[in-house]
Amino acid sequence: MTPNTVSRDRLRANAADCPLCGRQIPEPTERLVAFGPVESVTADTADAVECTACGGVSFFRPPPEETG
Ligand SMILES: [Zn+2]
Repeated sequence: MTPNTVSRDRLRANAADCPLCGRQIPEPTERLVAFGPVESVTADTADAVECTACGGVSFFRPPPEETG
């Protein structure tokens, strides 16, 4: 288990907190990161979010559903 995880429900609520520095990430949907080949990075397909304050990357749980 990695400690730097963010609840996907929090992301959908647009209220993601960075577990690394404890700050709220403003507009987390603008900072999404996807490692897989996705057409568009959304709250459902993103793997992680980058914190604007500390630059750390936190991963979403649960992970995105496998499709195909
Ligand atoms: Zn941070």
